[in-house]
Amino acid sequence: MDNEVHQGFETLAIHAGQEPDPTTGAVVPPIYQVSTYKQDGIGGLRGGYEYSRSANPTRTALETCLAGLEGGATGLAFASGLAAEDALIRAVCRPGDHVVIPNDAYGGTYRLFAKVAEPWGVAFTPAPLGDVEAVRAAVRPETKLIWVETPTNPLLGIADIAALAGVAREAGALLVVDNTFASPYLQRPLELGADVVVHSTTKYIGGHSDVVGGALVAADAELGARLAYHQNAMGAVAGPFDAWLTLRGVKTLAVRMDRHCANAEQVVAMLDAHPAVERVLYPGLPSHPGHDVAVKQMRGFGGMVSFRMGSEEAAVRVCERTRLFILGESLGGVESLIEHPGRMTHASAAGSPLEVPADLVRLSVGIEDAHDLVRDLEQALS
Ligand SMILES: *Cc1c(COP(=O)(O)O)cnc(C)c1O
Repeated sequence: MDNEVHQGFETLAIHAGQEPDPTTGAVVPPIYQVSTYKQDGIGGLRGGYEYSRSANPTRTALETCLAGLEGGATGLAFASGLAAEDALIRAVCRPGDHVVIPNDAYGGTYRLFAKVAEPWGVAFTPAPLGDVEAVRAAVRPETKLIWVETPTNPLLGIADIAALAGVAREAGALLVVDNTFASPYLQRPLELGADVVVHSTTKYIGGHSDVVGGALVAADAELGARLAYHQNAMGAVAGPFDAWLTLRGVKTLAVRMDRHCANAEQVVAMLDAHPAVERVLYPGLPSHPGHDVAVKQMRGFGGMVSFRMGSEEAAVRVCERTRLFILGESLGGVESLIEHPGRMTHASAAGSPLEVPADLVRLSVGIEDAHDLVRDLEQALS
C-alpha cells in the first residue's frame, strides 16, 4: 500500500482497501455474506480467509480503509463502539491496573469503566482533560491508559492531544483518543502522538443513521496484532452487511463533514445571539476555553453543538418543539437531531461525577439547508 500513503483523504475514503473485485470487476467490495471458506488442502487458505469471525473480506475492506484514513498500521471493525472499547480495555488492562478517563466522558464509556471494568479490578480516575497538569496528577504507577475524548460528548470539551501524548509517554501508558465527534477528516490523533483511535462508526463515519458499529485503529502493527487477537478471541466483530454499509458511508465523509461544519456555524451564530439561550458550547467560538487548541489540532469544528437554556424546563421545551430537528439519541447522520443529554444519552451518568447539566440541549447538525435548520430552532425557542 506504499502508493496509498501519498494519496489524499478523499481518495483514500473511496479507494483504500477497495480495489475492484478481482473476479467480476465490481467497483464496490461485495457483501461477503459467508461464515466459512473452502481450503485448498488443509491450511491452504485463499487470501487468509478461514472463518468470518477471524476475518471477512468485506470487513477487511472497511478495516483497511479506516486504517488509511487515520494514518494507522491496523484497523479493526467491531459490532459497536462500545464493543471496540471493551476489546481495547481487556487487551491492555489487567486486574490492578488503572485508567485516567475524561471527567465528561461519553456516558456509555463511563458506564463501561464504572459498572464493568472496575468490578473486574481495573480502577479509573475521572480528570479534566483540558488541564494537562490535572491529568499528570491523576496518573499512577499502574496507569495503563489515558483515555481522551475531544471534543467530548455532550459538553464539547477540548483536550490537547499532543500535550497528553507527552504525559502518556512519561507515564509509560497508552494514549487512546475517542475520535467519534471529529472523525478522521477533522482530526488525526495518531499524527499528534496517540497510540490508538476509537470510533463509534455509528456516528459520522457511517453517517446515515442506518448501522451500529465501532472501530479501533492502532498506530503500530505490534499493538494492532494484540488488539486483533482480542477481536477474534472475544468475537464482537462487525458483520459483513454492517461493514458494507459503513464503507458506503465513509466514501462521502469529507463532503459531509464540510457541510456539517458549515451548517453548525450558522446554527451557532443564531443561538449565540438569541436572548433565550444562556450559553453556547462550540469549540469554534473564540469564547470557548479550548478554542486555541481546537484551532491547532482540528481542520474544522464539527457538527455537534450544545447549549444551555438556564433551566431544565426550558431545555426540555426546546427539545419537544423542533419539527425538522428530530428528537432522538445518536448523532453524526445526515439528518439533524436534538436531544436532552441529562434524560437521554447521558442518563446513565446521573448521580455520578459525570452527571451533565439539566439545562443542556445537544444538537447534531445535519446537512439539510442551513436556513431551514436555523428557522426551525428559532420557532422552537420563541
Ligand atoms: C456513541 C458513542 C460511543 C459508543 O458507540 P456505540 O456505537 O453506540 O457503541 C462512544 N463514544 C462516543 C463519543 C459516542 O458518541
